[in-house]
Amino acid sequence: MKAAIFNGKEITIRNVSDPKIKDSEVLVRVKVAGICGTDLAIVNGYLPTPTPIILGHEFVGIVEKVGKDVDKSWLNKRITSEINTNIDFNCYYCKLGIYTQCISRKAIGIDVDGALAELIALESYLLHEIPDFISDDEATFIEPLAAAFQVFEMMPIDDDDKVIAIFGLGKLGLLISQVAKLKGLEIIGVDESDRKLKLAKKLGVKEIINRLKEKNIPNVIQNFTDGLGADMVIDATGNPDALGDIIASCRTRGKIHIKSTYGIETPINLTDVVVRELTLYSSRCGPFEKAIEGIKSGNIKVEELISDKFQLSEINKAFESYKLSQDHIKTIIQI
Ligand SMILES: [Zn+2]
Repeated sequence: MKAAIFNGKEITIRNVSDPKIKDSEVLVRVKVAGICGTDLAIVNGYLPTPTPIILGHEFVGIVEKVGKDVDKSWLNKRITSEINTNIDFNCYYCKLGIYTQCISRKAIGIDVDGALAELIALESYLLHEIPDFISDDEATFIEPLAAAFQVFEMMPIDDDDKVIAIFGLGKLGLLISQVAKLKGLEIIGVDESDRKLKLAKKLGVKEIINRLKEKNIPNVIQNFTDGLGADMVIDATGNPDALGDIIASCRTRGKIHIKSTYGIETPINLTDVVVRELTLYSSRCGPFEKAIEGIKSGNIKVEELISDKFQLSEINKAFESYKLSQDHIKTIIQI
């Protein structure tokens, strides 16, 4: 099969042998895959991975073969997959039902081979069937949308929480903003790209702030919130430099949720967090069922978030265009 192999320095398209499946696995022919900030962080050298590796963890494919122990009804189904594989179903976290934090887990496309290839072997417990009315392109948003839902699984919305500020309106920020809207929150969006800010407004963000045009963002957010600051502030910037403004934009006793995986040392002054009794939250992965339902119901719009489509053979061009444009939201790779 053809696969995009990352060797720690560069990605090349190579012919490699097809993956062999275990009795508990299925073989999936990949149709489309998305690339995301995590992939970019790996390629830029910020997130260490074992190499050589096939990247890619947001994808759609058709089950082509099933292992001996797998329900035959999976054959020919159109699926997407959760990313935490190698689950032992036996550790402290597994016994609590928190499989995404299993101590033996490995992330697909990050720790083990992913979906930027014609074929991928997957444990059947990771699979989710995609309903007919969700297109292949839309389905590549299921994994990141699940992560957007997880923000509010980890961070409760209390009665006093009315306003949420979202820093960074890339794919994840725009998905989180739509989930926040479903939760009845009023949203303030902060980004550097007028294109993203305009789209955010269209998708239900009430106030937008261009970070390049405003000197004092916490001040602007306080002006929108009776001088208090936002009840909740999300970091989806991928940029640790934004953390100072994020903390300062949160009201006293408010909540901050970190979604960025910078992969680099992050200097941060926590004094204000202590003095004003802020609570820090974080999250990763999330409930696929809610994400599938969100897209299926039309409550979450994802088509407009697609910026570019490339063929697998153009993978380097795809990463280049992602790196260069600050208006970029989501790239889809047709396999
Ligand atoms: Zn476990």
